[in-house]
Amino acid sequence: MPEKVLLAEPRGFCAGVEMAIKALTWMVRIFEPPVYCYHQIVHNQWVVKAFEQVGVIFVDDIDQVPEGAPVMLSAHGSSPEIVLGAARRAGVVIDAVCPLVTKVHHEVKRMADQGFDIIYVGHDGHDEAIGTVAVAPEVIALVQPETGLAGFNPSDSSKVALLAQTTLGIHEWQSVLNDASQRYPDLWTARKSDLCYATTNRQEAVQQLSDRTDLILVVGSENSSNTQALVRVAEEAGTAAHRIDNAASIQDEWLISARVVGLTAGASAPDHLVQEVIDRINPSDGFELFSVTDEEEYFPLPRQLRGFLSALQAAVEGGFTARAPGRSGLLENDRDWTATEALQLIRP
Ligand code: SF4
Repeated sequence: MPEKVLLAEPRGFCAGVEMAIKALTWMVRIFEPPVYCYHQIVHNQWVVKAFEQVGVIFVDDIDQVPEGAPVMLSAHGSSPEIVLGAARRAGVVIDAVCPLVTKVHHEVKRMADQGFDIIYVGHDGHDEAIGTVAVAPEVIALVQPETGLAGFNPSDSSKVALLAQTTLGIHEWQSVLNDASQRYPDLWTARKSDLCYATTNRQEAVQQLSDRTDLILVVGSENSSNTQALVRVAEEAGTAAHRIDNAASIQDEWLISARVVGLTAGASAPDHLVQEVIDRINPSDGFELFSVTDEEEYFPLPRQLRGFLSALQAAVEGGFTARAPGRSGLLENDRDWTATEALQLIRP
């Protein structure tokens, strides 16, 4: 039975998820329910349910948003067509796309404009992949990491670009990159891969944990791509691993022969679920942090929301009190509160 839990650092919420959760929290505090959200704000069932309980309706079809309603677009990024459709229907549209997904959208646009054929390594049907492919569908080929480049035939092999979903497994990306580099010597790819810092840091921690643990548990939802990638990284490194939604998902037989358990969480999993898992495992020697790096990244709230909040603040202050010079307001304080605190605010 477990003597110790090694708790990965970093784990859980990334800067993009922090921003998206805080942005949707603002939406439910500003507007009367229902507030609409195109796609799950982040891929975590607990977070989605928490927002549903305070009147957020998640839709997979923008036509389900009533005319004039407030709508948020999810952190995974939406196609240009959805962004336009939302602008036509909704009263207020706030796009909570992660800036690191937007960066990939810009790369697609730039390479397509320069006449490149684009290989996009991603998971078919994932929200991020759907939104990114839709930026230039006529020149982009979605390549699944498992199947590789079979079937990709560029019109000019000297003009091929290779891009990726931000949450891929590092080994999956590396394998397609190696293959594409050999086939296309002039291959263009981003100087630092499209895999985001949160993906690579969490995978690095799991990679190192796998040498020190008998079992790795990854807290996160089934539809969370980066969570699934963490499980695959652990397995690839030779350590048994399971994705769990929460403490109740743990099966007793997993723990029988595990002396040291590694524990981490996908980028959209709230940390209280991780703490509950430690309580459930109840290791005889307690838990220790296992840190591979510090994360300092911070993404400001979406531009449209900042404009909205500034206007609101000016109206409130204009009506009741003069704003003291230098006094911090709603936006200046954004760095000082976390998505975890935001979720506590909306919990019934
Ligand atoms: S996992 Fe990476 S790309 Fe996705 S929201 Fe977080 S920081 Fe952005």
